[in-house]
Amino acid sequence: MTYIKFTSSCSDKTIYINEEVIQSIMPFRQNSILSTEAGGMMFGCVGKSEKFYYIEKCSIPIPEDTRTITGFIRSVFHAKKALNIKIIDNITTYLGEWHTHPCEAFLSSQDKKSHIDLLNSSKIYINGIFALIYGADNIFKLYFIAKDRNIDLFMEEKDV
Ligand SMILES: [Zn+2]
Repeated sequence: MTYIKFTSSCSDKTIYINEEVIQSIMPFRQNSILSTEAGGMMFGCVGKSEKFYYIEKCSIPIPEDTRTITGFIRSVFHAKKALNIKIIDNITTYLGEWHTHPCEAFLSSQDKKSHIDLLNSSKIYINGIFALIYGADNIFKLYFIAKDRNIDLFMEEKDV
């Protein structure tokens, strides 16, 4: 299995995203002015110290989701369907959400609010929630919003 490594200069966490996850998100890139936002849930495992995270699986949009040029709202059916992905073993857990942007990737104030709402309403076994945002410029940015509201940005670590 191949993983894409994401690191942050302000955090000792390292996040590995399975290449299959990246590949299943890439077709949703908003590469025209008419393409709508897409999104889904992310699942994976956590190292004991909560320093290493492995994002292994993600769900993709279903017809019941609401998709506009600047917004994505997943339907209740989406989460129900995604649970089938989640139950692979006992260590796989919900880690957060991914979505696309019609511009570059950044955590908007609306994104911050929606992820904090999820953090408050979901069964989350880690100390925060991940938001993976895929920009129209083909760049992924990964945010970790901690329960104490501290936010870290992780970028793909390119091989030197
Ligand atoms: Zn957004």
